Amino acid sequence: MNKISIIVPCYNEEKSLPLFYEELIKYVNQFADSIKFEFLLVNDGSTDNTLNTIKDLLKTDERIKYISFSRNFGKEAAIYAGLEKSTGDFVTIMDADLQDPPSLLLEMYHAVTEENFDAVGTHRSTRKGEPFLRSFFAKLFYRIINRVTKFEMVDGARDYIFMKRTVVNAILSLKEYNRYSKGLFSFVGFNVKWIEYENIKRVAGQTKWSFWKLLSYALEGITAFTTTPLIFSSILGLLFCMISFILILIIIIKTLILGDPTSGWPSLVCIIFMASGIQLFSLGIIGQYLSKTYLEVKKRPIYIIQDTNL
Ligand code: UDP
Ligand code: MG
Repeated sequence: MNKISIIVPCYNEEKSLPLFYEELIKYVNQFADSIKFEFLLVNDGSTDNTLNTIKDLLKTDERIKYISFSRNFGKEAAIYAGLEKSTGDFVTIMDADLQDPPSLLLEMYHAVTEENFDAVGTHRSTRKGEPFLRSFFAKLFYRIINRVTKFEMVDGARDYIFMKRTVVNAILSLKEYNRYSKGLFSFVGFNVKWIEYENIKRVAGQTKWSFWKLLSYALEGITAFTTTPLIFSSILGLLFCMISFILILIIIIKTLILGDPTSGWPSLVCIIFMASGIQLFSLGIIGQYLSKTYLEVKKRPIYIIQDTNL
């Protein structure tokens, strides 16, 4: 018996959810009858009517399960909750806005059942329709993170992943509080097939990602998967010590041997500014890691359930 769990994180998706469900069912119906489904809708503290929309859908389809959080915990938390509560032999994660085409489901299923892959990942082939600055920084982010981490993170990878239970268990075994799913998925490894598709506009509602939210998400990804920035700040510190040492020698020689006392406070001010700037920068890097450690040490729950039909 095969069972597929489809996890859908929903945050203010009252408009897109019915459209999503309608489209999803079309493709789910193409599967053989022996394959069972479970739709796990995770309401991530929506402030609109998402929960009622889910409950309406529930009346027509008993395969729908829902988890409703007590507040907005973020997409990563919703994914984690979904993975934890899923019971399928195969699990996939889909956005509620139809940006992850359900038409790929069958192909993904075949890849893991017949082609011997453990998981199927998806990435966008282009960044068409995205603001220029966002694309620029996204590309920069992937270039940096791929240089400093030991495993490959695919540019434009989405959270639309189809996995076997073994992969799900591996991801769940990573219990960290600061969850960066794309990184966790790369981290666990396995035999992954990548499928690409064109960027699709969301059907209804609005994106929940502002530029700043994306930037802090990128920083999260970097601090969660590499400590290279710390090495970078150490090297910078060492470099500046060496430079100042050489400068001190030069000044001593100039003053004592050549009898030419160095004058001028502008140069001094510049040096102070630069040195203290670099100190603050390095402190900031350390602070990032410290704050993440702080949050991990507290061992707070990743999500809190208010209502569910599980
Ligand atoms: N989402 C969520 N919690 C959040 C933000 C987003 O569960 O705090 C869900 C959202 O409902 C959607 C998916 O995550 O199903 C992707 O969000 P969105 O479409 O806004 O992101 P984008 O596709 O623009 O990157
Ligand atoms: Mg979207």
